[in-house]
Amino acid sequence: METKKFKDLALSRLGMGAMRLPVTGKEPASQIDDPKAQEIIDYAMAHGINYYDTAYVYHGGESEKFLGQVMKKYPRGSYCLATKYMASANPDYKGVFEEQLSRLQTEYVDFYLIHSVTDQSFRQYLDSGCIEYFLDQQERGRIRFLGFSSHASVENLAAFADHHAWDFAQLQINYFDWTFRRTAEEYQILTERKIPVMVMEPVRGGRLASLTPETEAELKAAHPDWSIASWALRWVRKLPNVQVILSGMSDMEQIRDNIATFNDSKELSDADEKLLMDVCRKFRSQVVVPCTSCRYCTEGCPAQINIPEYLKVYNTGKVDGHRAAAEQMQKVESAGKPGDCIACGACTGHCPQGIDVPALLKELTEMV
Ligand code: SF4
Ligand code: SF4
Repeated sequence: METKKFKDLALSRLGMGAMRLPVTGKEPASQIDDPKAQEIIDYAMAHGINYYDTAYVYHGGESEKFLGQVMKKYPRGSYCLATKYMASANPDYKGVFEEQLSRLQTEYVDFYLIHSVTDQSFRQYLDSGCIEYFLDQQERGRIRFLGFSSHASVENLAAFADHHAWDFAQLQINYFDWTFRRTAEEYQILTERKIPVMVMEPVRGGRLASLTPETEAELKAAHPDWSIASWALRWVRKLPNVQVILSGMSDMEQIRDNIATFNDSKELSDADEKLLMDVCRKFRSQVVVPCTSCRYCTEGCPAQINIPEYLKVYNTGKVDGHRAAAEQMQKVESAGKPGDCIACGACTGHCPQGIDVPALLKELTEMV
């Protein structure tokens, strides 16, 4: 396993994310399948992963307890624990921290994070006194390194990063978001401040593990022995300020593939990188609908469906998954719903982009 120096530690480049551990399939839905999850952790330890990332809220609180139990058989100094405080889950940061130490069965947390700084939570974290409290816990040796994870706008990320000299931060970075969102700016903000980056969602919640047949074929032609997910991991690994790359591994196949990637020192060449960027653009254009919101289609719709807004939801579903689409769907203001479409075809005739609206509305109804 490739490692990278962090202060006096040699951290594995691949980190084990404990937010998507295998589940039993019984209620509650987050119930961890202990034997299967334990097999994954044991395999991770046996293959040199020494960074284990959890949070107060993962698996309804069971992820921390599970890790506390399963890691007991290993010497405490042989791995690092990372966990997080989320204000919206429980504002009592002192109580939460004590509970976390107890759940994890440890006297200290190696990497402690303010969890999910967003434009909504940003002020609460700054004003509540929690950061000062955690800095004090760090002084007392109960936290080794203090950082934060962010989903905030670049402006608020920069302001939060300037609070004090953070030891590290966690960002969502993958080649897709780098191309289509402001991820590169976020990375730059941390890099300029010399804050090492832990990466979450390098494979975008699994979305980049499987592309369209045509784009996958292009990647396979270049490197037949690389999995599609490994392209995403190799791309993130090249960024110089990236420290640990987290993967929320749910089964043995994933962890075997990821470890094989990090045991392979072959980096993406410039040609590989160019190919990946081309594939990324092509993939997006193949899965999303090119609606321009011109609204030529809406006037004649007998069901009064807000077609362009629902096509945005459709695109979200294709790129971010059905849960994100379902959430966005709730916010659409429309007299008619996608399921009200009677497939009269009036809209399609007006669409300059030639979009088959009734077919997509039907697919959207099935998706969410
Ligand atoms: S096909 Fe559906 S969305 Fe299009 S105009 Fe007819 S009812 Fe409206
Ligand atoms: S006419 Fe076509 S491009 Fe314009 S809003 Fe309707 S679906 Fe989108």
